[in-house]
Amino acid sequence: MFSIKRLFIRTVESKINNQHSLFDDVYDDISDYQVKKFKWQVIHGYGFNVDSSKLLTLMPLTIKTPTNNGGGLTYWDHVELEGYNHEAALHEFCHWVWERTGLLNSDYVRSYIDAYEKLAKSDKKTNRDTSNAAAFAKLQLYGDNAEFPGILQLSDYDHAFVSLASYHMGQYTKGTRRLPSYMWPYFDKVFSRTTLITPYYEGGHV
Ligand SMILES: [Zn+2]
Repeated sequence: MFSIKRLFIRTVESKINNQHSLFDDVYDDISDYQVKKFKWQVIHGYGFNVDSSKLLTLMPLTIKTPTNNGGGLTYWDHVELEGYNHEAALHEFCHWVWERTGLLNSDYVRSYIDAYEKLAKSDKKTNRDTSNAAAFAKLQLYGDNAEFPGILQLSDYDHAFVSLASYHMGQYTKGTRRLPSYMWPYFDKVFSRTTLITPYYEGGHV
């Protein structure tokens, strides 16, 4: 039934609804801008190369809670992060890229694992500048004999690339987590060697 009173109520309701949706739109724009800015910072700050940057620019990204400092997950159609954590972002971004570069084919992985094992077995005394990476390689490949049996036993070749990438954070030719030069070509497929952000492990951005 039509009445002046009902019309009034409807008008007020519609005004409230309009204000609400306007607020939501503005809020979505701000958070969308922040997510894009964050993605841009990680892509450029850690030196993803041109091809990787193209893949990552198209990648749908959601941030669950801005104040959270947790990890993330890579799904087939998007990446979801718990918060604005650079290490977690770099890790998941690398999953996205490696799954799309065709670099996970068996011949290439075998050659990479051979180089990774060479690093794990390298002598700490004669290879002091890469001894941190060697210790990490040993733990990653062969596990710690307890909860984590290691990448080789798990055949987790995806993480053979990705976990080493989020270990050095794009800084594989210099710094405290640098890799030996025979491993650089594998990471040159994804990174440019030019980093702009000091990594968390050298006291930089978390
Ligand atoms: Zn992962």
